Amino acid sequence: MTDRRHPAGFWLDTCGDDLTPRPSLHGDETVDVAIVGAGFTGLWTAYALAKADPSLRILVLEKDVAGWGASGRNGGWCSSDLVSPPEVVEAHYGHDAAVAMRRAMIETVVEVGRACETEGIDAHYARGGTLKVATSPLEAERLREDLDSFRRIGWTDEDRVWIDADEARARIAVDGMVATTYSPHCAVVQPARLARGLAHVVEGLGVRIAESTTATAIVPGRVRTDRGTVRADVVVRALEGGTGSILGHERLLLAVHIHMGVTEPLPPSFWDEVGWRDREALSDMRPVFVYAQRTIDDRIAFGLARGHPHPGSLTPTYVVPTAERALRSTLARLFPSAAGARIDSLWSGYVGMSRDWFPSVGLKDGIAWAGGYFGDGVSTANLAGRTLADLITGRETELTRLPWVGHRWRPWEPQPLAMAGVAGLFTAMRWADATESWSGRPSRVLGLVERLLPD
Ligand SMILES: Cc1cc2nc3c(=O)[nH]c(=O)nc-3n(C[C@H](O)[C@H](O)[C@H](O)COP(=O)(O)OP(=O)(O)OC[C@H]3O[C@@H](n4cnc5c(N)ncnc54)[C@H](O)[C@@H]3O)c2cc1C
Repeated sequence: MTDRRHPAGFWLDTCGDDLTPRPSLHGDETVDVAIVGAGFTGLWTAYALAKADPSLRILVLEKDVAGWGASGRNGGWCSSDLVSPPEVVEAHYGHDAAVAMRRAMIETVVEVGRACETEGIDAHYARGGTLKVATSPLEAERLREDLDSFRRIGWTDEDRVWIDADEARARIAVDGMVATTYSPHCAVVQPARLARGLAHVVEGLGVRIAESTTATAIVPGRVRTDRGTVRADVVVRALEGGTGSILGHERLLLAVHIHMGVTEPLPPSFWDEVGWRDREALSDMRPVFVYAQRTIDDRIAFGLARGHPHPGSLTPTYVVPTAERALRSTLARLFPSAAGARIDSLWSGYVGMSRDWFPSVGLKDGIAWAGGYFGDGVSTANLAGRTLADLITGRETELTRLPWVGHRWRPWEPQPLAMAGVAGLFTAMRWADATESWSGRPSRVLGLVERLLPD
Protein backbone atom coordinates (compact mmCIF):
# COMPACT_ATOMS: atom_id res chain seq x y z
CA MET A 1 0.00 0.00 0.00
CA THR A 2 2.88 2.37 0.69
CA ASP A 3 5.67 3.30 -1.72
CA ARG A 4 8.57 5.73 -1.82
CA ARG A 5 6.66 8.55 -3.46
CA HIS A 6 3.58 7.98 -1.27
CA PRO A 7 5.01 7.00 2.12
CA ALA A 8 2.64 6.16 4.91
CA GLY A 9 4.97 8.03 7.24
CA PHE A 10 6.65 7.44 10.53
CA TRP A 11 3.52 7.18 12.69
CA LEU A 12 1.79 4.52 10.60
CA ASP A 13 5.06 2.68 9.93
CA THR A 14 5.80 2.42 13.64
CA CYS A 15 2.28 2.04 15.05
CA GLY A 16 2.87 -1.64 15.81
CA ASP A 17 -0.38 -2.73 14.16
CA ASP A 18 -0.92 -4.91 11.11
CA LEU A 19 -2.19 -2.63 8.34
CA THR A 20 -3.57 -5.45 6.20
CA PRO A 21 -7.08 -4.29 5.27
CA ARG A 22 -10.02 -5.79 7.12
CA PRO A 23 -12.63 -7.50 4.92
CA SER A 24 -14.49 -5.12 2.67
CA LEU A 25 -18.25 -4.83 2.31
CA HIS A 26 -19.79 -7.77 0.48
CA GLY A 27 -22.95 -6.67 -1.27
CA ASP A 28 -25.88 -4.77 0.20
CA GLU A 29 -26.51 -4.44 3.94
CA THR A 30 -28.85 -2.78 6.40
CA VAL A 31 -27.65 -1.31 9.70
CA ASP A 32 -28.78 1.37 12.16
CA VAL A 33 -25.86 3.75 11.65
CA ALA A 34 -23.41 3.76 8.73
CA ILE A 35 -20.29 5.83 9.31
CA VAL A 36 -18.27 6.76 6.23
CA GLY A 37 -14.56 7.26 7.02
CA ALA A 38 -12.45 5.52 9.66
CA GLY A 39 -10.38 8.44 10.91
CA PHE A 40 -10.72 10.02 14.33
CA THR A 41 -14.16 11.48 13.50
CA GLY A 42 -15.66 8.19 12.35
CA LEU A 43 -14.02 6.12 15.07
CA TRP A 44 -14.82 8.46 17.98
CA THR A 45 -18.41 8.62 16.72
CA ALA A 46 -18.59 4.83 16.61
CA TYR A 47 -17.05 4.65 20.08
CA ALA A 48 -19.45 7.15 21.68
CA LEU A 49 -22.48 5.61 19.94
CA ALA A 50 -21.60 2.04 20.91
CA LYS A 51 -21.12 3.15 24.51
CA ALA A 52 -24.39 5.11 24.51
CA ASP A 53 -26.48 2.31 22.98
CA PRO A 54 -24.79 -1.10 22.70
CA SER A 55 -27.78 -2.46 20.78
CA LEU A 56 -27.08 -0.24 17.73
CA ARG A 57 -25.81 -1.97 14.60
CA ILE A 58 -22.94 0.26 13.51
CA LEU A 59 -20.92 -0.18 10.33
CA VAL A 60 -17.85 1.93 9.45
CA LEU A 61 -16.91 2.11 5.76
CA GLU A 62 -13.32 2.99 4.89
CA LYS A 63 -11.66 3.44 1.50
CA ASP A 64 -8.20 2.34 2.67
CA VAL A 65 -7.56 1.21 6.24
CA ALA A 66 -8.51 2.82 9.56
CA GLY A 67 -6.23 5.77 10.32
CA TRP A 68 -4.88 5.96 6.76
CA GLY A 69 -6.07 9.57 6.31
CA ALA A 70 -4.98 12.62 8.29
CA SER A 71 -5.65 10.81 11.56
CA GLY A 72 -2.61 8.57 11.13
CA ARG A 73 -0.36 11.26 9.70
CA ASN A 74 -0.65 14.42 11.78
CA GLY A 75 1.50 16.38 14.22
CA GLY A 76 -0.10 14.63 17.18
CA TRP A 77 -1.12 17.84 18.93
CA CYS A 78 -4.22 17.04 20.91
CA SER A 79 -4.93 20.65 21.75
CA SER A 80 -7.73 22.92 22.86
CA ASP A 81 -7.19 25.01 19.71
CA LEU A 82 -9.91 25.35 17.11
CA VAL A 83 -9.35 26.37 13.54
CA SER A 84 -11.45 29.49 14.25
CA PRO A 85 -9.86 31.88 16.77
CA PRO A 86 -12.01 32.92 19.76
CA GLU A 87 -12.89 36.32 18.30
CA VAL A 88 -14.30 34.65 15.17
CA VAL A 89 -16.51 32.30 17.21
CA GLU A 90 -17.56 35.29 19.31
CA ALA A 91 -18.36 37.43 16.25
CA HIS A 92 -20.61 34.68 14.83
CA TYR A 93 -22.24 33.27 17.92
CA GLY A 94 -21.64 35.64 20.84
CA HIS A 95 -19.41 35.74 23.88
CA ASP A 96 -21.00 32.93 25.90
CA ALA A 97 -20.87 30.55 22.94
CA ALA A 98 -17.18 31.30 22.38
CA VAL A 99 -16.46 30.62 26.06
CA ALA A 100 -18.49 27.38 26.02
CA MET A 101 -16.72 26.16 22.90
CA ARG A 102 -13.27 26.72 24.42
CA ARG A 103 -14.29 25.07 27.65
CA ALA A 104 -15.51 22.03 25.72
CA MET A 105 -12.20 21.88 23.87
CA ILE A 106 -10.21 22.04 27.11
CA GLU A 107 -12.27 19.17 28.50
CA THR A 108 -11.75 17.24 25.28
CA VAL A 109 -7.96 17.26 25.70
CA VAL A 110 -8.46 15.54 29.05
CA GLU A 111 -11.18 13.26 27.66
CA VAL A 112 -8.88 11.83 24.97
CA GLY A 113 -6.34 10.92 27.68
CA ARG A 114 -9.07 9.42 29.82
CA ALA A 115 -10.38 7.27 26.96
CA CYS A 116 -6.86 6.05 26.15
CA GLU A 117 -6.33 5.06 29.74
CA THR A 118 -9.72 3.40 30.20
CA GLU A 119 -9.51 1.50 26.93
CA GLY A 120 -5.86 0.57 27.22
CA ILE A 121 -4.78 2.47 24.08
CA ASP A 122 -1.07 3.19 24.39
CA ALA A 123 -1.00 6.28 22.16
CA HIS A 124 1.99 7.85 23.96
CA TYR A 125 -0.40 10.49 25.30
CA ALA A 126 1.44 13.14 27.35
CA ARG A 127 -0.34 16.24 28.65
CA GLY A 128 2.68 18.53 28.86
CA GLY A 129 0.89 21.66 27.64
CA THR A 130 1.99 23.88 24.80
CA LEU A 131 4.67 26.51 24.34
CA LYS A 132 4.17 29.17 21.68
CA VAL A 133 7.47 30.91 21.14
CA ALA A 134 8.42 34.20 19.50
CA THR A 135 11.86 34.48 17.97
CA SER A 136 11.59 38.15 16.93
CA PRO A 137 9.97 41.30 18.32
CA LEU A 138 7.37 41.05 15.57
CA GLU A 139 6.43 37.51 16.60
CA ALA A 140 6.34 38.68 20.23
CA GLU A 141 3.80 41.34 19.26
CA ARG A 142 1.69 38.68 17.57
CA LEU A 143 2.03 36.46 20.62
CA ARG A 144 0.71 39.28 22.81
CA GLU A 145 -2.31 39.75 20.51
CA ASP A 146 -2.94 36.01 20.60
CA LEU A 147 -2.85 36.04 24.40
CA ASP A 148 -5.21 39.05 24.48
CA SER A 149 -7.76 37.28 22.30
CA PHE A 150 -7.90 34.45 24.86
CA ARG A 151 -8.13 36.94 27.73
CA ARG A 152 -11.28 38.32 26.13
CA ILE A 153 -13.00 34.95 26.48
CA GLY A 154 -12.01 34.71 30.11
CA TRP A 155 -8.75 32.79 29.99
CA THR A 156 -6.55 33.59 32.96
CA ASP A 157 -2.90 32.90 33.71
CA GLU A 158 -4.01 29.41 34.66
CA ASP A 159 -5.03 28.82 31.05
CA ARG A 160 -2.28 30.63 29.16
CA VAL A 161 0.49 32.60 30.72
CA TRP A 162 3.19 34.90 29.39
CA ILE A 163 6.58 33.66 30.47
CA ASP A 164 9.86 35.36 29.81
CA ALA A 165 12.44 33.80 27.56
CA ASP A 166 14.76 32.70 30.41
CA GLU A 167 12.03 30.75 32.17
CA ALA A 168 10.86 29.31 28.87
CA ARG A 169 14.39 28.19 28.06
CA ALA A 170 14.25 25.97 31.14
CA ARG A 171 11.37 24.16 29.42
CA ILE A 172 12.59 24.14 25.81
CA ALA A 173 15.77 25.96 24.77
CA VAL A 174 14.68 27.32 21.39
CA ASP A 175 17.39 29.36 19.71
CA GLY A 176 16.74 33.11 19.57
CA MET A 177 13.57 32.95 21.68
CA VAL A 178 12.48 36.41 22.90
CA ALA A 179 9.08 35.65 24.46
CA THR A 180 6.76 32.73 25.08
CA THR A 181 3.33 31.75 26.27
CA TYR A 182 2.56 28.51 28.00
CA SER A 183 -0.81 26.77 28.20
CA PRO A 184 -1.46 23.51 30.02
CA HIS A 185 -4.40 22.70 27.72
CA CYS A 186 -2.61 20.48 25.25
CA ALA A 187 -1.29 16.94 24.99
CA VAL A 188 0.70 15.11 22.36
CA VAL A 189 -0.01 11.65 20.98
CA GLN A 190 1.37 9.15 18.49
CA PRO A 191 -1.67 9.64 16.25
CA ALA A 192 -1.54 6.38 14.30
CA ARG A 193 -1.38 4.38 17.52
CA LEU A 194 -4.44 6.28 18.70
CA ALA A 195 -6.39 5.70 15.47
CA ARG A 196 -5.44 2.04 15.17
CA GLY A 197 -6.01 1.39 18.87
CA LEU A 198 -9.40 3.04 18.70
CA ALA A 199 -10.37 0.89 15.71
CA HIS A 200 -9.69 -2.25 17.75
CA VAL A 201 -11.59 -0.85 20.73
CA VAL A 202 -14.72 -0.10 18.69
CA GLU A 203 -14.59 -3.57 17.15
CA GLY A 204 -14.51 -4.94 20.69
CA LEU A 205 -17.72 -2.97 21.31
CA GLY A 206 -19.44 -4.73 18.39
CA VAL A 207 -18.84 -2.15 15.64
CA ARG A 208 -17.91 -3.56 12.23
CA ILE A 209 -15.28 -1.84 10.07
CA ALA A 210 -15.32 -2.63 6.35
CA GLU A 211 -12.07 -1.51 4.73
CA SER A 212 -11.07 -1.16 1.05
CA THR A 213 -14.62 0.07 0.52
CA THR A 214 -15.08 3.41 -1.22
CA ALA A 215 -18.29 5.40 -0.82
CA THR A 216 -19.43 7.24 -3.92
CA ALA A 217 -22.78 8.69 -2.88
CA ILE A 218 -24.52 9.54 0.39
CA VAL A 219 -28.24 10.26 0.48
CA PRO A 220 -30.71 10.09 3.38
CA GLY A 221 -30.95 6.45 4.44
CA ARG A 222 -28.31 5.15 2.03
CA VAL A 223 -24.60 5.01 1.19
CA ARG A 224 -23.58 3.74 -2.21
CA THR A 225 -20.11 2.15 -2.35
CA ASP A 226 -18.01 0.25 -4.89
CA ARG A 227 -18.88 -2.95 -2.96
CA GLY A 228 -22.60 -2.57 -2.44
CA THR A 229 -25.23 -0.30 -0.94
CA VAL A 230 -25.73 0.20 2.79
CA ARG A 231 -29.13 1.22 4.12
CA ALA A 232 -29.12 2.95 7.51
CA ASP A 233 -31.35 5.18 9.63
CA VAL A 234 -28.45 7.59 9.95
CA VAL A 235 -25.44 8.01 7.69
CA VAL A 236 -22.44 9.85 9.16
CA ARG A 237 -20.14 11.62 6.71
CA ALA A 238 -16.74 11.60 8.44
CA LEU A 239 -14.47 12.17 5.46
CA GLU A 240 -12.79 15.53 6.14
CA GLY A 241 -10.38 16.09 3.20
CA GLY A 242 -12.08 13.24 1.33
CA THR A 243 -15.54 14.85 1.47
CA GLY A 244 -15.26 16.05 -2.13
CA SER A 245 -15.10 12.44 -3.33
CA ILE A 246 -18.83 12.13 -2.66
CA LEU A 247 -21.17 13.05 -5.44
CA GLY A 248 -22.90 16.35 -4.68
CA HIS A 249 -20.62 17.16 -1.69
CA GLU A 250 -17.69 18.43 -3.78
CA ARG A 251 -17.88 22.06 -2.68
CA LEU A 252 -18.19 21.62 1.09
CA LEU A 253 -14.56 21.05 2.11
CA LEU A 254 -11.39 21.57 0.11
CA ALA A 255 -8.59 19.02 0.56
CA VAL A 256 -5.33 20.72 1.53
CA HIS A 257 -2.15 18.67 1.23
CA ILE A 258 0.47 19.19 3.97
CA HIS A 259 3.78 17.59 4.96
CA MET A 260 5.52 16.41 8.09
CA GLY A 261 8.86 14.92 8.97
CA VAL A 262 10.62 13.25 11.84
CA THR A 263 14.30 13.33 12.75
CA GLU A 264 16.39 10.38 13.74
CA PRO A 265 16.50 9.82 17.54
CA LEU A 266 18.59 12.69 18.91
CA PRO A 267 21.39 11.96 21.40
CA PRO A 268 21.19 12.60 25.16
CA SER A 269 23.63 15.54 24.74
CA PHE A 270 21.02 17.30 22.57
CA TRP A 271 18.25 16.76 25.12
CA ASP A 272 20.53 17.86 27.98
CA GLU A 273 20.98 21.14 26.14
CA VAL A 274 17.37 21.59 24.94
CA GLY A 275 15.29 20.11 27.77
CA TRP A 276 11.76 19.49 26.47
CA ARG A 277 11.26 17.06 29.35
CA ASP A 278 7.47 17.30 29.52
CA ARG A 279 7.04 16.67 25.78
CA GLU A 280 5.25 20.01 25.40
CA ALA A 281 3.73 20.77 22.01
CA LEU A 282 5.83 23.55 20.46
CA SER A 283 4.98 26.20 17.86
CA ASP A 284 6.10 29.67 16.85
CA MET A 285 4.30 32.76 15.59
CA ARG A 286 5.59 33.06 12.05
CA PRO A 287 3.08 33.32 9.19
CA VAL A 288 4.18 29.80 8.21
CA PHE A 289 4.39 28.52 11.76
CA VAL A 290 5.99 25.31 12.91
CA TYR A 291 4.26 22.65 15.04
CA ALA A 292 6.45 20.10 16.76
CA GLN A 293 6.59 17.47 19.44
CA ARG A 294 9.31 15.39 21.09
CA THR A 295 8.44 11.76 20.44
CA ILE A 296 8.62 9.08 23.06
CA ASP A 297 11.81 7.76 21.42
CA ASP A 298 13.58 11.15 21.41
CA ARG A 299 12.97 12.40 17.91
CA ILE A 300 11.48 15.71 16.84
CA ALA A 301 8.32 15.25 14.78
CA PHE A 302 7.39 18.49 13.08
CA GLY A 303 5.55 20.18 10.25
CA LEU A 304 4.90 23.62 8.84
CA ALA A 305 1.64 25.46 8.20
CA ARG A 306 2.07 25.37 4.45
CA GLY A 307 0.18 23.36 1.94
CA HIS A 308 -1.52 23.29 -1.40
CA PRO A 309 -5.11 22.57 -2.32
CA HIS A 310 -6.46 19.61 -4.28
CA PRO A 311 -9.91 18.81 -5.59
CA GLY A 312 -11.57 16.72 -2.90
CA SER A 313 -11.88 13.74 -5.19
CA LEU A 314 -8.08 13.35 -4.97
CA THR A 315 -6.50 12.38 -1.70
CA PRO A 316 -2.85 13.26 -2.11
CA THR A 317 -0.14 11.50 -0.14
CA TYR A 318 2.92 12.17 -2.32
CA VAL A 319 5.97 14.02 -1.05
CA VAL A 320 7.27 17.18 -2.72
CA PRO A 321 11.04 17.87 -2.50
CA THR A 322 10.66 21.49 -1.32
CA ALA A 323 8.92 20.24 1.83
CA GLU A 324 12.12 18.64 3.10
CA ARG A 325 14.14 21.81 2.44
CA ALA A 326 11.63 23.92 4.37
CA LEU A 327 11.59 21.48 7.30
CA ARG A 328 15.40 21.28 7.40
CA SER A 329 15.87 25.04 7.53
CA THR A 330 13.25 25.35 10.28
CA LEU A 331 14.99 22.69 12.36
CA ALA A 332 18.35 24.45 11.93
CA ARG A 333 16.83 27.82 12.88
CA LEU A 334 15.12 26.61 16.07
CA PHE A 335 17.71 24.03 17.15
CA PRO A 336 21.10 24.72 15.52
CA SER A 337 22.65 21.72 17.22
CA ALA A 338 20.13 19.45 15.40
CA ALA A 339 20.82 21.06 12.02
CA GLY A 340 22.71 18.01 10.74
CA ALA A 341 20.22 15.47 12.07
CA ARG A 342 18.91 12.96 9.59
CA ILE A 343 15.24 13.30 8.61
CA ASP A 344 14.23 9.67 8.99
CA SER A 345 10.80 9.95 7.48
CA LEU A 346 8.93 12.53 5.45
CA TRP A 347 5.29 12.14 4.50
CA SER A 348 2.12 14.04 3.77
CA GLY A 349 -1.60 13.96 4.34
CA TYR A 350 -4.64 16.07 3.61
CA VAL A 351 -6.94 18.11 5.79
CA GLY A 352 -10.40 19.58 5.18
CA MET A 353 -10.76 23.33 4.78
CA SER A 354 -14.16 24.97 4.90
CA ARG A 355 -14.86 28.19 3.01
CA ASP A 356 -15.42 30.13 6.24
CA TRP A 357 -12.64 28.47 8.32
CA PHE A 358 -15.24 27.15 10.72
CA PRO A 359 -15.58 23.53 11.85
CA SER A 360 -19.04 22.03 11.93
CA VAL A 361 -20.93 19.06 13.29
CA GLY A 362 -24.59 18.25 12.78
CA LEU A 363 -27.46 15.98 11.81
CA LYS A 364 -30.18 16.77 9.32
CA ASP A 365 -32.56 14.52 7.39
CA GLY A 366 -30.73 11.36 8.41
CA ILE A 367 -27.30 12.60 7.33
CA ALA A 368 -24.82 13.52 10.06
CA TRP A 369 -21.48 15.17 9.46
CA ALA A 370 -18.43 16.60 11.20
CA GLY A 371 -15.29 18.25 9.89
CA GLY A 372 -13.66 21.41 8.63
CA TYR A 373 -11.08 21.21 11.42
CA PHE A 374 -8.20 22.11 9.08
CA GLY A 375 -5.03 21.58 11.21
CA ASP A 376 -6.85 21.20 14.53
CA GLY A 377 -8.73 17.94 14.29
CA VAL A 378 -7.07 15.56 16.73
CA SER A 379 -9.08 16.67 19.74
CA THR A 380 -11.92 18.36 17.83
CA ALA A 381 -12.81 15.02 16.23
CA ASN A 382 -13.31 13.51 19.69
CA LEU A 383 -15.67 16.34 20.61
CA ALA A 384 -17.42 15.80 17.28
CA GLY A 385 -17.83 12.07 17.95
CA ARG A 386 -19.38 12.61 21.35
CA THR A 387 -21.64 15.35 19.98
CA LEU A 388 -22.80 13.20 17.05
CA ALA A 389 -23.62 10.36 19.42
CA ASP A 390 -25.85 12.72 21.43
CA LEU A 391 -27.52 14.05 18.28
CA ILE A 392 -28.09 10.60 16.80
CA THR A 393 -29.51 9.14 20.02
CA GLY A 394 -31.71 12.22 20.39
CA ARG A 395 -30.23 13.57 23.61
CA GLU A 396 -30.12 17.30 24.27
CA THR A 397 -26.90 17.99 26.12
CA GLU A 398 -24.37 20.74 26.71
CA LEU A 399 -22.52 19.39 23.69
CA THR A 400 -25.49 19.65 21.34
CA ARG A 401 -25.90 23.31 22.36
CA LEU A 402 -22.35 24.29 21.32
CA PRO A 403 -22.19 26.92 18.58
CA TRP A 404 -20.63 24.74 15.89
CA VAL A 405 -23.59 22.31 15.99
CA GLY A 406 -25.58 22.73 12.80
CA HIS A 407 -23.20 25.38 11.42
CA ARG A 408 -23.77 25.45 7.65
CA TRP A 409 -20.72 25.98 5.47
CA ARG A 410 -20.83 28.36 2.61
CA PRO A 411 -19.88 26.23 -0.42
CA TRP A 412 -16.54 26.79 -2.11
CA GLU A 413 -16.45 28.47 -5.48
CA PRO A 414 -16.47 25.98 -8.37
CA GLN A 415 -13.10 24.53 -9.43
CA PRO A 416 -10.60 25.67 -10.52
CA LEU A 417 -11.47 28.99 -8.87
CA ALA A 418 -11.43 27.64 -5.31
CA MET A 419 -8.09 25.92 -5.81
CA ALA A 420 -6.54 28.98 -7.41
CA GLY A 421 -7.69 31.18 -4.51
CA VAL A 422 -6.34 28.86 -1.83
CA ALA A 423 -3.09 28.24 -3.72
CA GLY A 424 -2.68 32.03 -3.87
CA LEU A 425 -3.32 32.28 -0.14
CA PHE A 426 -0.60 29.75 0.72
CA THR A 427 1.84 31.41 -1.67
CA ALA A 428 1.12 34.75 -0.01
CA MET A 429 1.75 33.24 3.43
CA ARG A 430 5.11 31.84 2.30
CA TRP A 431 6.01 35.19 0.76
CA ALA A 432 5.05 37.00 3.97
CA ASP A 433 7.09 34.55 5.99
CA ALA A 434 10.18 35.14 3.87
CA THR A 435 9.91 38.94 3.75
CA GLU A 436 9.23 39.25 7.47
CA SER A 437 12.22 37.13 8.36
CA TRP A 438 14.66 39.47 6.58
CA SER A 439 12.91 42.82 7.11
CA GLY A 440 11.67 42.25 10.69
CA ARG A 441 8.56 44.24 9.75
CA PRO A 442 4.97 43.04 9.35
CA SER A 443 4.35 41.94 5.81
CA ARG A 444 1.85 44.03 3.83
CA VAL A 445 0.88 40.83 2.03
CA LEU A 446 -0.19 39.38 5.34
CA GLY A 447 -2.35 42.42 6.05
CA LEU A 448 -3.99 41.95 2.68
CA VAL A 449 -4.53 38.23 3.30
CA GLU A 450 -6.15 39.00 6.65
CA ARG A 451 -8.54 41.44 4.99
CA LEU A 452 -9.48 38.83 2.38
CA LEU A 453 -10.12 36.03 4.88
CA PRO A 454 -13.72 35.51 5.97
CA ASP A 455 -14.67 37.19 9.29
C1 LIG B 1 0.42 16.58 8.14
C2 LIG B 1 -0.75 16.88 9.07
C3 LIG B 1 -0.50 17.42 10.33
C4 LIG B 1 -1.58 17.69 11.19
N1 LIG B 1 -1.31 18.06 12.48
C5 LIG B 1 -2.33 18.16 13.36
C6 LIG B 1 -2.06 18.37 14.74
O1 LIG B 1 -0.91 18.37 15.17
N2 LIG B 1 -3.12 18.54 15.60
C7 LIG B 1 -4.41 18.51 15.13
O2 LIG B 1 -5.32 18.71 15.93
N3 LIG B 1 -4.69 18.23 13.84
C8 LIG B 1 -3.68 18.04 12.96
N4 LIG B 1 -3.96 17.71 11.67
C9 LIG B 1 -5.38 17.57 11.28
C10 LIG B 1 -5.95 16.25 11.80
O3 LIG B 1 -5.09 15.18 11.49
C11 LIG B 1 -7.31 16.02 11.15
O4 LIG B 1 -8.12 17.15 11.37
C12 LIG B 1 -8.05 14.81 11.69
O5 LIG B 1 -7.22 13.69 11.68
C13 LIG B 1 -9.30 14.59 10.87
O6 LIG B 1 -9.86 13.33 11.23
P1 LIG B 1 -11.04 12.78 10.33
O7 LIG B 1 -11.39 11.47 10.85
O8 LIG B 1 -12.12 13.80 10.26
O9 LIG B 1 -10.41 12.69 8.85
P2 LIG B 1 -9.40 11.60 8.29
O10 LIG B 1 -8.45 11.11 9.29
O11 LIG B 1 -8.82 12.17 7.02
O12 LIG B 1 -10.36 10.37 7.96
C14 LIG B 1 -11.18 10.33 6.83
C15 LIG B 1 -11.15 8.89 6.34
O13 LIG B 1 -12.05 8.76 5.24
C16 LIG B 1 -11.48 7.89 4.28
N5 LIG B 1 -12.12 8.18 3.00
C17 LIG B 1 -11.90 9.24 2.17
N6 LIG B 1 -12.73 9.19 1.13
C18 LIG B 1 -13.49 8.09 1.30
C19 LIG B 1 -14.56 7.51 0.56
N7 LIG B 1 -15.00 8.06 -0.57
N8 LIG B 1 -15.15 6.39 1.04
C20 LIG B 1 -14.72 5.82 2.20
N9 LIG B 1 -13.72 6.32 2.93
C21 LIG B 1 -13.12 7.44 2.49
C22 LIG B 1 -10.00 8.22 4.33
O14 LIG B 1 -9.21 7.15 3.83
C23 LIG B 1 -9.79 8.47 5.81
O15 LIG B 1 -9.36 7.31 6.50
C24 LIG B 1 -2.92 17.46 10.77
C25 LIG B 1 -3.15 16.91 9.51
C26 LIG B 1 -2.09 16.60 8.67
C27 LIG B 1 -2.36 15.99 7.33
